[in-house]
Amino acid sequence: MEEFGLSNKTVWSDCLQSLLNQAIQRSLRLEEKIRELHSARYASEAPSFLMKLLSDLNGELLNGLKSICETTSSIEKVDEITYTTQSKEIRSYCQALADLYSYISLVESSQAGKNLTSISVSIARLSNELVPNNVTLVCPVYSCNYCYFDILLWLKKVVERFFSETKLSGYPKYFAFFGFPHVIRDDILCHSLLGHELGHFVGTEHNIFQDALKDVPLSSLTANLTASLTAIPLTLLDLQKIFEEYVCDIVSVYLFGLAPLFTLIEFGTSVINLTDLALPHPPLSLRVSNILTTLEHYGYKDFFSKNGENAIANTMLSTLQNLGVLVSETQEMIEPLAMDILHCLEIPLKKARELIESRIDKRFQLKLDKHIFECVKLIEEGVPPSSILNSKLDSDQCQPTELGFILNAGWFYRIMYLQNTKPISLPLQECEHAKQLKDLCRLIDKAVEQSETIYWYNKRGEEVS
Ligand SMILES: [Zn+2]
Repeated sequence: MEEFGLSNKTVWSDCLQSLLNQAIQRSLRLEEKIRELHSARYASEAPSFLMKLLSDLNGELLNGLKSICETTSSIEKVDEITYTTQSKEIRSYCQALADLYSYISLVESSQAGKNLTSISVSIARLSNELVPNNVTLVCPVYSCNYCYFDILLWLKKVVERFFSETKLSGYPKYFAFFGFPHVIRDDILCHSLLGHELGHFVGTEHNIFQDALKDVPLSSLTANLTASLTAIPLTLLDLQKIFEEYVCDIVSVYLFGLAPLFTLIEFGTSVINLTDLALPHPPLSLRVSNILTTLEHYGYKDFFSKNGENAIANTMLSTLQNLGVLVSETQEMIEPLAMDILHCLEIPLKKARELIESRIDKRFQLKLDKHIFECVKLIEEGVPPSSILNSKLDSDQCQPTELGFILNAGWFYRIMYLQNTKPISLPLQECEHAKQLKDLCRLIDKAVEQSETIYWYNKRGEEVS
């Protein structure tokens, strides 16, 4: 059997060399891909930053592989044991390279003109203003969900495995990534959900999750929950994660008012359907309930009642009231554990609402005023609902309209005029409702784009003067 086995020393050596060659090829191809993407046009600095980072790390990995090459060639006799230890190391390099590859798709999907919508630019700006000195990338992803993660935090794991931590020392504190589903990239009203994702980022930076829970003995809470209920043992970490999801909804209301509420309901299909406990996200109707309380806390209900003579304000108020009724009617269908959790978290959630108000700059809090009704009227006339405020200002400088304001105008219009209660006919044909929604999204997109242009125009002006 000897002549067929792998005990021959040259065979072990060949196997090792082939493995090394593959790894090196992979690294060289990555560099090629990065060079190819360099000529593309991007709407922000973030993709170039990411490419530089990936290129740096890839260079380090390539150097590491080259030194393994040298070590291997100096070994006189490669036996099975040498092969096993060396190949294990090479494979870990391959894994790291594969990790870097997965980030290249983010750079690809952030190419301007190809996938980008006005909201990518607007959210990136908001993220940069909320947390200074960070790099933010907002782009479509191919999963059907919204997401946030810190790219640097993740790449640090790759770095720490191979190099000293100082490798990342020259970089900013955060590299925030926000993804929205590619398949609905034109549905700009739906992207109000990015407010929730911003919550994950901002909440961490301002220690809101931690500090709101500070005085609550969570461990005794989980003990009670586990003892009283069910086969699901709930850990402290589970509870913290659920809490974080509720708090992110609060941040989204702080930034974008009612828009995230309507989007959440639409994205979650209906209040009644999603009553199950999918950790860490709480059941939809409990999230809606938390948002309704938050809207009241931040004074939105008062705003509508005070403007009760306006038909739009009236409709919005009764929409919120109906939702409240619907939420309480679904309570018996909800997992009792989820209900108990929300009940236990009520006090820290109240604390979180206050912390958000005191720690996130007031200028980011969406304040509705009567102009919102004029914005809705503009949409009715087929005009993008931005720059309505400009004519009201004494200053001759045009001011951008806040993203939250535009999104709310869009949703108010939709709820006032575009109710969709007719059954959809199959096979799917483009119905009048779908067309109207598309037109609405186009107008909202235009408004966000106009507003961004005004912002950058003013900023440039300030820099020049
Ligand atoms: Zn979340």
